[in-house]
Amino acid sequence: MSEIEKRIADVRKRMEDAKKRSPYKQDVTLVAVTKFHSLAEMEEAIDCGITYVGENRVQEMEQKYRLLQKPVHWNLQGHLQKNKVKKVIAMDCLIHSGDSLSILKEINKRAAAIGKVQDVLLEFNISGEETKHGLKPEEFEEAVQLAKELPNICVRGLMCMAPEEGEDVIRPVFKKGHEMWEKLKEYFPKGQISILSMGMSGDFEIAIEEGSNMVRVGTAIFGARDYTRGVNL
Ligand SMILES: *Cc1c(COP(=O)(O)O)cnc(C)c1O
Repeated sequence: MSEIEKRIADVRKRMEDAKKRSPYKQDVTLVAVTKFHSLAEMEEAIDCGITYVGENRVQEMEQKYRLLQKPVHWNLQGHLQKNKVKKVIAMDCLIHSGDSLSILKEINKRAAAIGKVQDVLLEFNISGEETKHGLKPEEFEEAVQLAKELPNICVRGLMCMAPEEGEDVIRPVFKKGHEMWEKLKEYFPKGQISILSMGMSGDFEIAIEEGSNMVRVGTAIFGARDYTRGVNL
């Protein structure tokens, strides 16, 4: 067994155990976050059964998207700059970072230009940390009303991140994320809101216990990232 294969097995085991503790008994999708890791590592993970991959940087995702020969579901979870939206829309992916009213409008505009309906998640900054992107919880109504009016985006759910702190801080954030996700469902056609994207390497078990059905895990699968690494593969 390779290192990546062992780590994926370990993460899946921990996910199963967390699911048993979850009162929601939900299915959970594992997104392998491949940012700052090579195409070869991505391919290895896919060979180990990974079917969802996540990237943060548009340029890096584009390169991998172009080169990867294996079928996989692409997820973009990093904060998006307006000038990159057109490039993202050209790819088949789920955008987790619908994190401002202006970016939702831009995604809609660019998707309309190529006759596409783009799947997005609304990202909320629940903890209120200044370093985090995301819609404010107070913007919930406004964001929902806007999203409903934009014909070329389709909101599929909610994404949020917890602070890198203790469980006593993390758990309430995920609880709130779950509550907001339930509320979101009331505004859209039945079945449309299906994704609750919460949980990373350090907190995915708590997230699953609080109802997450999509976890985004990088470090626990691929090891530490080398941030000096460029986008060249
Ligand atoms: C990098 C990143 C992840 C993965 O983080 P790990 O701690 O390495 O698992 C998940 N979600 C988002 C939004 C990220 O930026």
